[in-house]
Amino acid sequence: MVQWQAVFLDRDGTIGGTGHFIHPRDFVLFEGAEESIRRLKEAGLKVFAFTNQHRISKGEATEKEFRSQFNTYGFDDSFICPHGSSEGCHCRKPRPGMLFTAAEKYGLDLSKCVVVGDVGDTDMLAAHAAGAKKVLVRTGWGGRFAE
Ligand SMILES: [Mg+2]
Ligand SMILES: [Zn+2]
Repeated sequence: MVQWQAVFLDRDGTIGGTGHFIHPRDFVLFEGAEESIRRLKEAGLKVFAFTNQHRISKGEATEKEFRSQFNTYGFDDSFICPHGSSEGCHCRKPRPGMLFTAAEKYGLDLSKCVVVGDVGDTDMLAAHAAGAKKVLVRTGWGGRFAE
């Protein structure tokens, strides 16, 4: 049996909101999301937020505002890509840079980590590139894949 080490949770459409950008001050969690974070931590897993937020690069919100939001929800840490798609960074999903950064910071084996997200061609591709376990939820954009 795999001894799971950490869970990476996408923000928009996965723990709350709609899938679209919502400023942290207006963001609403899905029912049970905070409890789920707490239960994962009680089970001995690290729980991390990992999110693309290119509006930060446009000045529409700050990384600090996201970070303090994730702290409030009980995340152990948050990994945030503030860049636009044209900037060619390594962290913007579907690139796996945020997962590698987290693995280095916390000494994780990514094959023993789970990535939960609502978008196949960002969240799931990043997970695949890092060799992590993929969980595609049907909230947010994930509903497009439901029958
Ligand atoms: Mg999402
Ligand atoms: Zn980035």
